[in-house]
Amino acid sequence: EARYDKGLEKSRHTFGERLNHLLANFRSVDEDFFDELEETLIGADVGYDMAMQISDQLREEVKLQNVKKSKDVKNVVVQKLIELYDAAGADEHTGLKMAEQGPTVILFVGVNGVGKTTTIGKMANRFKQEGQKVLLAAADTFRAGAIQQLNVWAERDGVDIVKKPEQSDPSAVVFDALKKAKAENYDILFVDTAGRLQNKANLMNELAKMKRVITREVPDAPHEVLLVLDATTGQNALNQAKLFKDTTDVSGIVLTKLDGTARGGIVLAIRNELHLPVKYVGLGEQVDDLRPFVPSEFIYGLFK
Ligand code: GDP
Repeated sequence: EARYDKGLEKSRHTFGERLNHLLANFRSVDEDFFDELEETLIGADVGYDMAMQISDQLREEVKLQNVKKSKDVKNVVVQKLIELYDAAGADEHTGLKMAEQGPTVILFVGVNGVGKTTTIGKMANRFKQEGQKVLLAAADTFRAGAIQQLNVWAERDGVDIVKKPEQSDPSAVVFDALKKAKAENYDILFVDTAGRLQNKANLMNELAKMKRVITREVPDAPHEVLLVLDATTGQNALNQAKLFKDTTDVSGIVLTKLDGTARGGIVLAIRNELHLPVKYVGLGEQVDDLRPFVPSEFIYGLFK
């Protein structure tokens, strides 16, 4: 529960508080109420379709349960949000898929600046704390400074890193890292990649080549391809996600910078429109500001 205490203040402020306010001043569940509810939901970036679904279902529920008290309406809203989130996707577990044997390989994709490197740094720390032997591959050889930035995280986390000079072939970095991971019995390998969306064909080729290299070395890998999205970019993040989904087999989302936006509802929109599970959320720049995403806790966190 306490895990979303920090980082959701902004979303709570516009979304939770606005809804709380709406409910506190509520007299009857009439059309005005639903109008305002829809506006609040859209304002929090849950997406138009999702807002309408919630509103429609709430109408039904209010009738069915003959809800009169505002406290009960709130419970129904929260319950509906959780149900709709769950219904929008398959029955997935929130954690990462791990290798049955040999190293687990996790590929991170996403455009520059969304927080890929930072997320890897935070995640490496988390797994190291859990007693896993962690290796990083600095395969973003394109963005100036990316290798050095990942190296800083490796040192801070006390984990190993495989790197080559800037502009090296990213697949060569991945190849070396896989060899090392297997030979030295690493539990998990995190691969940072470059996010060049300007050239979709290039990006697609590069990721495809990387995946071929990975699968040749570790047949059931990559175990996850995590797309990192910046929550503060709102609908733009959704568009990026669609592009990456077309480009490679994304298995899950890491949604960063939720602390910097009031639009926490984007989590629901991602679920609804992309049918991809959000696996982790970033709630700040510090090492422990990455949390596994637990839908019900997150939604309750919005209304605290
Ligand atoms: P990359 O280009 O995708 O590797 O992005 P970086 O990891 O370099 O991150 C870009 C900026 O976003 C950095 O200044 C990070 O500190 C910041 N950042 C990453 N995740 C979060 C987050 O969850 N919250 C906040 N507030 N900042 C973040």
